[in-house]
Amino acid sequence: MKTTQNHNTYDVIIAGAGPVGLFLACELALAKCSVLILEKTADPHSSLKKLPFGIRGLSAPTIEALDRRNLLQELEVHKRVKNPHQKAEQGGRRQIGHFAGIPFREGNVDASQWKYRLPSSTEPSLISEMAELEIIFAHRAEALGVEIKRGFAINNFQQTENLVTIQSADQSFEAKWLVGCDGARSIVRKLGGFEFAGTEPEFTGYTTQIDIADPEKLGQGRIVTSKGMYMQSQPGYVVIQDFDGGAFHGSDKPITIEHVQEVLRRVSGTDVTINTLHITTTWTDRARQATTYRNGRVLLAGDAAHIHAPLGGQGLNLGLGDAMNLGWKLAATIHQKAPKDLLDTYYTERYPVGEQVLNWSRAQVGIMGPKPESRALHAIISDLMETSDGASYFAARVWGINTKYDLGSDHPLVGRSTPNFELEDVKTIADLMHNGKGILLDFTADDAIQSLANQYLNQIKYISGPAREQLGLSAVLIRPDGIVAWAADNELDLVELQQAVQKWFVS
Ligand SMILES: Cc1cc2nc3c(=O)[nH]c(=O)nc-3n(C[C@H](O)[C@H](O)[C@H](O)COP(=O)(O)OP(=O)(O)OC[C@H]3O[C@@H](n4cnc5c(N)ncnc54)[C@H](O)[C@@H]3O)c2cc1C
Repeated sequence: MKTTQNHNTYDVIIAGAGPVGLFLACELALAKCSVLILEKTADPHSSLKKLPFGIRGLSAPTIEALDRRNLLQELEVHKRVKNPHQKAEQGGRRQIGHFAGIPFREGNVDASQWKYRLPSSTEPSLISEMAELEIIFAHRAEALGVEIKRGFAINNFQQTENLVTIQSADQSFEAKWLVGCDGARSIVRKLGGFEFAGTEPEFTGYTTQIDIADPEKLGQGRIVTSKGMYMQSQPGYVVIQDFDGGAFHGSDKPITIEHVQEVLRRVSGTDVTINTLHITTTWTDRARQATTYRNGRVLLAGDAAHIHAPLGGQGLNLGLGDAMNLGWKLAATIHQKAPKDLLDTYYTERYPVGEQVLNWSRAQVGIMGPKPESRALHAIISDLMETSDGASYFAARVWGINTKYDLGSDHPLVGRSTPNFELEDVKTIADLMHNGKGILLDFTADDAIQSLANQYLNQIKYISGPAREQLGLSAVLIRPDGIVAWAADNELDLVELQQAVQKWFVS
């Protein structure tokens, strides 16, 4: 086959226009990089990305990232109400999340434990839709100059010291960097020689839209049986977990109505009858993670770097967190404004977060199974989640509130997402981060701090003056991804601040 060579050399080519690839493209383009996305499918509007299949829980780091890029206000759910599906239940018993299907309830969560969540904080969780997120990200990416080519599956690539050459369809493209955001079965990961280590599945999950002849035979809500679990989220929308060791998902067998009916009957212990099978998708709890996220000029992000059961819905949040972390670091590297080893911190910061999510998902599978040991553990965790400390612990983990990178500082705020300080002019930190720059926030309005910030005018915005609530801090250095790089309480050490600035920025 003849290959057409495209002569443009992009800063970055991204494999995959899923949410992670699109959001990463926005971050890179905001930082003035030229970006091309090559997406395998021609049609972005898959029915699996729309409600109810495409429903996704967004956690605090994702919501904060969207707010910091002025995208949160575009989400319908943000425009409407906080959580339309759960508003009806009142009185502090409202379910606001779950672990292995065990709910934790609003009245039990003690948010006062989270010192850095100010009244101006965004919601800790929201329900959104994959399709909506992808449309918002794609619009933003295109407005920032990103090229998106759909119907272009990457099938090969080669890298040299300076360049990556990528083959897709019958064309060849060049970029300084290639990022694989091409999902769980990532070809970039496979061809790039990345090791993908982890554990094998316990079950096959089914998400189905079906017409049931006798729906009254099924229970309501999430029902755990001796064979697995099933749940009718809305009439006709059924999720099933069949503890078959993941055999069906791993096979090439077609998903027929007879098969889904057999699984549903066996798991539910009923003789329920399915009249029509509209849509079905299967998934497993296979948990694997790339042992490195970078090989030369090739990087991985999102499901391409890590997969796990969708229980508790963390995969999208994890992937968007990768993109927020990687975007500014890769851009600084491209513009030769990166301190030594900056790009390596993408892996050292994000790998442990991914590992925690994989283990969180394994822990859920461990107590969901039909074995008596699992049922006994399930009962104990249920009791704990009814306590305030228990519910607060699970809420903080599920919502990603305590996510903290180890940046080598003893200060409790360093490595965490910045509090959303409200400044005197009623602007919040999130409002000040729309352009993707770092911030040096100086509550003391000290000339020496300002003159340090002035040496980094293109990288850091200097903000001085008091905030409505300062949490006992005198100054805070915030990276472009909203992570606190340095913080000082009353006494501040200018040399220490200078070192912190040099660790993350080049003037
Ligand atoms: C049933 C279910 C429920 C879930 N619920 C939640 C939830 O509530 N919250 C949550 O955070 N996460 C949830 N997840 C996980 C979440 O959907 C994924 O983690 C997320 O979609 C990953 O995004 P991504 O962009 O990395 O990959 P994907 O969304 O898989 O996108 C990858 C893109 O790459 C393209 N591609 C693939 N191969 C190539 C190639 N060779 N060349 C070019 N393009 C290619 C694909 O077509 C696709 O568009 C759920 C997952 C499932 C299955």
